[in-house]
Amino acid sequence: MVGTRWDEPLGRLLGTRAAGPFAGLGLHTAGDLLRHYPRRYASPGRLTDLSSLSPGEHVTVMAEVRRATVRTMRSRGGAILEAVVTDGTRELSLAFFAKKAGALRRHESRLRPGTLGMFTGVVRFYRGAAQLTHPDYQLVGTDVDDEAAALVEATRPIPVYPASAALPTWRIQRAVRTVLDPLTEEDVNDPLPTEVRERVGLPGLVESLRLVHEPYTEQDWRRGRDRLRYEEAFVLQAAMARRRAQAAARPVVARPTTPGGLLAAFDARLPFVLTAGQQDVGAQIAEDLAADAPMQRLLQGEVGSGKTVVALRAMLQVVDAGGQAALLAPTEVLATQHLRTLRELLGPLAQEGMLGAADRATRVVLLTGSQAAAARREALLDAASGAAGIVVGTHALLGEHVQFADLGLVVVDEQHRFGVEQRDALRSRGDEGDTVPHLLVMTATPIPRTVAMTVFGDLEVSTLTEVPAGRAPVATHVVPADNAAWTARTWARVREEVDAGRRAYVVCPRITADDASGADDADLLSGEPDDQGATRPPLRAVEEVADELATLPALDGVRIGTLHGRMTAAAKDDAMAAFAAGRTPVLVSTTVIEVGVDVPEASVMVVLDAERFGLSQLHQLRGRVGRGTDPGLCLLVARAPEGSDAATRLATLAGTTDGFELATVDLELRREGDVLGASQSGSASSLRLLRVVRDAALIARARDEARALVDRDPALEAWPALLAAIDEWLEPSAQEYLDRA
Ligand code: ADP
Ligand code: MG
Repeated sequence: MVGTRWDEPLGRLLGTRAAGPFAGLGLHTAGDLLRHYPRRYASPGRLTDLSSLSPGEHVTVMAEVRRATVRTMRSRGGAILEAVVTDGTRELSLAFFAKKAGALRRHESRLRPGTLGMFTGVVRFYRGAAQLTHPDYQLVGTDVDDEAAALVEATRPIPVYPASAALPTWRIQRAVRTVLDPLTEEDVNDPLPTEVRERVGLPGLVESLRLVHEPYTEQDWRRGRDRLRYEEAFVLQAAMARRRAQAAARPVVARPTTPGGLLAAFDARLPFVLTAGQQDVGAQIAEDLAADAPMQRLLQGEVGSGKTVVALRAMLQVVDAGGQAALLAPTEVLATQHLRTLRELLGPLAQEGMLGAADRATRVVLLTGSQAAAARREALLDAASGAAGIVVGTHALLGEHVQFADLGLVVVDEQHRFGVEQRDALRSRGDEGDTVPHLLVMTATPIPRTVAMTVFGDLEVSTLTEVPAGRAPVATHVVPADNAAWTARTWARVREEVDAGRRAYVVCPRITADDASGADDADLLSGEPDDQGATRPPLRAVEEVADELATLPALDGVRIGTLHGRMTAAAKDDAMAAFAAGRTPVLVSTTVIEVGVDVPEASVMVVLDAERFGLSQLHQLRGRVGRGTDPGLCLLVARAPEGSDAATRLATLAGTTDGFELATVDLELRREGDVLGASQSGSASSLRLLRVVRDAALIARARDEARALVDRDPALEAWPALLAAIDEWLEPSAQEYLDRA
């Protein structure tokens, strides 16, 4: 869609054989190649520091040739060219082998002492020294004849591309030139509308591609990169603005408050006073529900900030107005718990049709995939007939088989597993002219403003900032895993809590010891290299740890339960119930307990292999303890050498309870730093340059521009290139990431 030249297969441009290795990097068309941006720029004057090469690493280094000598090998026969390159301090050796010395003369004559070049290959250690065998290389300034041109070439930043062994960076560079040189702005359709581009003062698409791929100066590539970064932000924000506009255009039934209804009765029997935040957000939501555009709201608030009550009040307003509400949880355990909580909070108000019900009452039912057929049938009937005012379930609830008499509100709890796609599916239920339900999405993961703007740009955001008074803070400490005295003390603390009638969570990253994939539900940091390389012990697993704890003298006689995502819903429920009741006061689990689970007696949490979890996730986890009046304690058992990233992250977590600060630090520290996945999938549709924390100002500007554009032209009819870019961005890979984010 972006112009024929843009879509041209690389095979036709470079030749089928030459195009082969490009396909290996997922680059199939001219456009793919041009969007394959340099990872960094080498400057001919600045040599790569050779002190930190590690074995097995595929590297591209800028270095100076010190010497190169060919000799024949008496022992094995054949010849070897040994060259040594340097960064000025350290040396790296290059080895080329051949049957005859003559075959190596060509390299020998090119690799003259003092010549600068880029060398690429896989690092090996040979007799204690770093070596590249048969490296590919490119010498600086040797391909140009005239001296002036050579001088210019010798000072130009050299793009270094994400490359592969089969495709060194300079071959990518040459191919880019071949493709880019004949291209003009007319050959491509720039997704950035001209008016926006001019207002913000950015170069055109082809010009920016030239600037990043063939810069003469650092300013060049910075200018090109900034424009491409803005483009990413803009496309994303336009996608969000369009969703928002489309959602707002769907018809909805207004559900104003009803005097003397269930909501009023509920407020009257609330055992506590709503916090100021709950009142403000509640008023905002009440207003949204009464309007005739669908509510699209994200409610964020720390664990324990009282979101459930806010959601329940919204649901009651809708029930009072004759509609139904659905509450979706990410897991069946949580759905079951929500059912219990809602019924408790509502008391007789939830007992419609039962003895002892209030005069005005409704029914709250549970609908899950694993419930018994009879119960499920009854719940389906209650939903379809309208007898159930509130239906609680997992996301499966919105599957096609569930009918509602009049679904007026969908509340999604813990949205971070509820991506853009699910939101769209929800909005597009029914036909074009059908009414849609209001939507309230809740999250306990604090989302920095720019992330909210990026990932949830289609939602209005409300935040509960205070936690109801009277809750004790959680103290967090890091325990070095290799310190026997400290770990012994950890289990002794668990024992003390149990003896005092309290409970302990023990969280592991995996379910079983032979489980290579990691836990079903653990959101482990991806791409985080192991600090200790291959010698690292395997991750702790639920079943193995449970067995081990059972043999510890410190926990003698203490009953230990287990919980993980591979158990049946009934078994999970039993495990939670046994823990809540204190029959198994120690619960070893994966992160299934991460969200929502509420056991007020739980006072201590031990996280094993804590360095493997994200900061926000750990913060979320520790919110599970200290829910009652006893202060909470969180012990992070970790292998995190002093000074490592992991140690920094864990120290940050121990040092603050501010979830927003943690979420921001988490984002900054993550190597693939961006919420949207970007480079890790390497697919055509992912974001490459944008980083949501760093680029906050740029994203905000792009959002304003995008919203203004969509306000003027909701269907983006005048901007087919932008539409195409939006569609491309929404391809499955980006989608998947959002769903996981
Ligand atoms: P969240 O879902 O935000 O983690 P919950 O809604 O589960 O928080 O609330 C946590 C606990 O605090 C619940 O036991 C709830 O009944 C209680 N709670 C909610 N609002 C208030 C309030 N205003 N005052 C006192 N307790 C409250
Ligand atoms: Mg909750």
